[in-house]
Amino acid sequence: MNLTEVTKKFATPEACNDFIETMRWPDGVVCPACESKRVTKYQTQEGTRNRVNSKTGKNEVKTVPARILYVCLDCELKFSVTTGTLFNDTHLELEKWFMAVALMVNAKKGLSALQMKRDLKVSVQNRVVLESSHPRSDGRSESETARWDGRSR
Ligand SMILES: [Zn+2]
Repeated sequence: MNLTEVTKKFATPEACNDFIETMRWPDGVVCPACESKRVTKYQTQEGTRNRVNSKTGKNEVKTVPARILYVCLDCELKFSVTTGTLFNDTHLELEKWFMAVALMVNAKKGLSALQMKRDLKVSVQNRVVLESSHPRSDGRSESETARWDGRSR
């Protein structure tokens, strides 16, 4: 897959979400809290939220992007595809993660952190996380699944 293809494939948050969903839950979505499989998926609309800026003390309107969420029908937990994963700990948009993964997969001699930063405006720190968590293109193994969950076994 070249970068253009990746860009097309993961152009929307929905596409990224679907991809991670299959990576994370190959046998169907499982609730991270009670492991129930009775889970429904829904999408929130983009909205706005009023919040007080802690630095300036002023009210500001923040845009909340549309999100794809899951609800467990057994314990009522609401979660997203990245809940409890490395993705959840970063403030990087999913689309950018996929660009980064594509760049690394395609770079023959590896990619310098500087180049990565230039191409994606991603910090070097984020890249380190990426390197330990990006999926392989040739299918997944148990240990990879574990890495996607942010744990090692
Ligand atoms: Zn549950």
